[in-house]
Amino acid sequence: MVDSTEHEARGTIHAGGEWREAVGGATREILDPADATPFAVVAEGGEKDADLAVESARRAFDGGQGAWPRTPVAERAALLRRVAGLLARDREELGLLESRDAGKTLEEGRVDIDCVADAFRYFADLVAAEAPGRVVDAGSPDVHSVVVHEPVGVCAMITPWNYPLLQASWKIAPALAAGNTFVIKPSEITPLTTVALIGLLVEAGLPAGVANIVTGPGHTVGARLAEHPDVDLVSFTGGLASGTKVARAAAGGVKKVALELGGKNPNVVFADACATDEGFDTAVDQALNAAFIHSGQVCSAGARLIVEESVRDRFVAELARRAERIRLGRGTEAGVECGPLVSEQQRAKVEAYVASALAEGAVLRCGGRRPDPSPQRPATGYFYEPTVLDRCHREMRVVREEVFGPVLTVETFRTEDEAVALANDTEYGLAGAVWTADAGRARRVAGRLRHGTVWINDFHPYLPQAEWGGFGRSGVGRELGPAGLAEYRETKHVYQNLAPAPVRWFAG
Ligand code: NAD
Repeated sequence: MVDSTEHEARGTIHAGGEWREAVGGATREILDPADATPFAVVAEGGEKDADLAVESARRAFDGGQGAWPRTPVAERAALLRRVAGLLARDREELGLLESRDAGKTLEEGRVDIDCVADAFRYFADLVAAEAPGRVVDAGSPDVHSVVVHEPVGVCAMITPWNYPLLQASWKIAPALAAGNTFVIKPSEITPLTTVALIGLLVEAGLPAGVANIVTGPGHTVGARLAEHPDVDLVSFTGGLASGTKVARAAAGGVKKVALELGGKNPNVVFADACATDEGFDTAVDQALNAAFIHSGQVCSAGARLIVEESVRDRFVAELARRAERIRLGRGTEAGVECGPLVSEQQRAKVEAYVASALAEGAVLRCGGRRPDPSPQRPATGYFYEPTVLDRCHREMRVVREEVFGPVLTVETFRTEDEAVALANDTEYGLAGAVWTADAGRARRVAGRLRHGTVWINDFHPYLPQAEWGGFGRSGVGRELGPAGLAEYRETKHVYQNLAPAPVRWFAG
């Protein structure tokens, strides 16, 4: 069972199969963003803790015949399935912990835990069903040639605060399925569920040293992991600025690098999608969900509404009317639809973007302020109202940069070409959607969008069996799906000569 007070007593750093405090003895209070009160304490690790954890992962990887990389695939898959079962058992506690830590609603927290369990099941099934290798026809009966996949080695994983456990699971599940060992550094402000997951991996029977965690800041623990000579792969999810630093640090050691970075995701609505009352209602409802779920702190948030000019006024009026009615409050309160932002710093960033947009000529349709305090919304919490900014254009900072908050900008178009050009006019390329009743147009536009995920008449669903990742500066590599497993593997060609004989190239 999840018990954060237990971790407070024994430490939140796990290396060499043991829970510990930080080498330097430092700790950090974890705040509830709904009222800014501390509700847990974790070890604040540093570079030495990162080194100890990497040493532990290295030892576990390089161990003898019985070590994790050489464990039969069926056993690895069985362990992953046991972890999924333990996640289901602890769903309520973990969902609550995620809700309090990241500020999301309890229901979102529960859904996250279900998705985490799904990721473990998916990668268990994927490796269990695989052929052990690909036999290659070498053109001779005297040669046996086979291509096999092996684990990369020690993986460093660095994760963000918005979906703490979900992002961790997209790395941990495939890494373990492939036979790697790892050190994870969760976001320093939302580490609790990742600490709990390490406990579940141990409970499921993972050998000591395979799973390691260091709680602590990015510029020390994260930076050390990215450059560490004994780390073979770095998988990072977070912002563009930190991701660039991680890639630079990892390049020094020519490590494998996977980056899942930000997004500025277009939601393109054609007038024909709104031709019926039902179509209009669905498109507005989904635009609301695209932009404001988890207070917009979602890498794939539909933060740019690009709507056909003929329906703009009606669409935006209805959107603003519904956005104003979103019930903000502490995520654990019944009836609350949206929680606070994760930190004071994040809210200040959102406020600065809204101020810059208004200075650049955007028209505020709703929000743009902190809500009045209420029993569900303490004055000390980091709340911000869902905000709709109309009359935006692509030169505005708020349209170009990732706000990562409850701010929706509205742009308009007249032609299909214009809609596609606007939707692709971003340095990112994570996700985008097109809403239309015209099946041909849907396919055409989806085909032209330069984004890693494209939704047609939907927004936000993802599947563990389908790859997730970005074009452009949204990242490098893919998570989930077969490619998400391939990230954690090396490919090896084993060529066996069954009838060795001299080649006589040299006269001798
Ligand atoms: P962030 O970049 O500030 O931090 C992410 C992680 O990197 C944290 O654990 C942090 O401690 C660590 N870090 C910071 N500086 C580092 C450094 N120099 N070296 C190594 N590690 C360092 O991001 P955030 O604010 O936690 O998360 C929000 C960002 O994450 C957004 O940009 C969002 O789009 C992105 N994100 C992307 C995806 C995706 O799938 N593409 C998913 C979730 C979040």
